[in-house]
Amino acid sequence: PSVPALEALQHTDVAHLLPEPNAASDKYRRGVVGIVAGSARYPGAAVLAVAGALRGGAGAVRYVGHAADAVIARFPESLVHAGPPGKAGRVQSWVVGPGLGDDLDAVAEVLAAPVPVLVDADGLRRLAEDPALLRDRAAPTLLTPHAGEAAALLNATRDEVEAARLAAVRELAARYGATVLLKGAATLIADPDPRVPVRANTMGTPWLATAGSGDVLAGLAGSLLAGGLSARDAGSAAAYLHGLAARRAAADAVPVTSYEVAEALGRAWRDVR
Ligand code: AMP
Ligand code: MG
Repeated sequence: PSVPALEALQHTDVAHLLPEPNAASDKYRRGVVGIVAGSARYPGAAVLAVAGALRGGAGAVRYVGHAADAVIARFPESLVHAGPPGKAGRVQSWVVGPGLGDDLDAVAEVLAAPVPVLVDADGLRRLAEDPALLRDRAAPTLLTPHAGEAAALLNATRDEVEAARLAAVRELAARYGATVLLKGAATLIADPDPRVPVRANTMGTPWLATAGSGDVLAGLAGSLLAGGLSARDAGSAAAYLHGLAARRAAADAVPVTSYEVAEALGRAWRDVR
């Protein structure tokens, strides 16, 4: 039987994906997510990625980077390290890239780890320069480009990506051997296996077109990876919850800020489960 090329993400699909703690849970079993983000220039990206990660159900969030003071001031529940990532202790997944600026050595370091890795933003710039960083990976990789970042990864223009988004996300997944989440008004999630249908998420709002909203999504999806979801499921569930949270926030007040989206994630989670 032929499988559909595209499947729309439904509420009930997501409800079954979100991990819920039970009596046997402890923080380590719920998963620890490591966040490598932010810089002296962009400390806010670190705060927003950690905010998303704290709402993704991981048992603990470890932040590694140069914005530890900003992170701990806002989130005393996070664990912070000055780095490098290899010295930070065990994690079940890494998120690397939001607001990193030009200090990108950590990208190769976390990609060498035998755990799922989400690469976003500046991390994708490093990957576009050196796709071989993915060659020896055994664990899943999730790339989360917007159209501009996707264009750089494909050596194409942003307009070319926007004109053929489904083809672009499939080509990226095939070329990089990774799960790819292409952001936009509709978010597309493609598996490296071309037989697997691409998922489409339209649970968003144009109010998400604001600085920092992608950083929240990256933290959230990375946290779901730490909780044991596949890259495809983590990306799908994160895109859906993020969109629902933004709608929730927008129902209260607009314009919506990225921090408010992160704060609404817990209510979105309740709406789904
Ligand atoms: P970034 O460009 O990395 O900050 O990520 C932007 C986030 O906002 C992604 O999750 C996008 O899918 C979402 N987004 C951006 N523009 C729109 C839009 N017009 N409608 C719905 N979601 C959007
Ligand atoms: Mg971004």
